[in-house]
Amino acid sequence: MTEAWIKCEKSMTKPPRVLVVEDEGNIRDLVCLHLGHEGYQCDGVADGTVALARSEAERYDLLVLDVMLPGLDGVSLCRAVRNGRLNRDVPILMLTARREETDKVIGLESGADDYLTKPFGVRELVARARALLRRSRAAAETAAPAGSGDGETVRVHDIEIDVPRRRVRVRGLDVELTDQEFRLLHLLATHVGIVFSREALLSRIWRGDTFVTVRSVDTLVKRLRRRIEADAAEPRYLLTVWGVGYKLADLAS
Ligand code: CA
Repeated sequence: MTEAWIKCEKSMTKPPRVLVVEDEGNIRDLVCLHLGHEGYQCDGVADGTVALARSEAERYDLLVLDVMLPGLDGVSLCRAVRNGRLNRDVPILMLTARREETDKVIGLESGADDYLTKPFGVRELVARARALLRRSRAAAETAAPAGSGDGETVRVHDIEIDVPRRRVRVRGLDVELTDQEFRLLHLLATHVGIVFSREALLSRIWRGDTFVTVRSVDTLVKRLRRRIEADAAEPRYLLTVWGVGYKLADLAS
């Protein structure tokens, strides 16, 4: 057992549960073996359809998805999990064999939190998994910060954020957000009118992960607009401040 897990064991009663979806048996075994050494409890699955059924039946703390899968591909699986009930907030790490930027963008747009290009080193895999689990745990612990409205619900424009339950309603309708979308919305909604640079958002949302670029911020903003704006092409809430960054519109505007 590593020092990291011994530390986090104090705050968690159960080991983190990881669903590993990879049809290449040797890679699946390798991932499960090394995450197992971290103290994580891994379920290995080879088929995308089987993985979807599993994610609809059981709650996980982390999903590791290969892109190329039999049954259902990793990108479609990722979207389906995000639109599901049980694991829609789960951190998702995508494994991709290709290096093209478009694949990475597709991976992030589908709702993945991070991705790893094959071939990858086990140390990098473990570091990414650890970072994702740490972030989602930290997000859960800080989900009800002091000084944001009544600490329970943040209301701005037609947006209502139930912070402890991590639920969002826009114009009276429930919208489902990924962990990153929720964090971006919560940050902007508790700082209405304040402009955040893309670099500032990068460090606040991804917490210093050197792997992502400012383009990831733009992608995340586009995704959040599709969830909260009546017309994502003509945003009224999440505004671009040209040459500076993004802000949530002032209440008066
Ligand atoms: Ca594969």
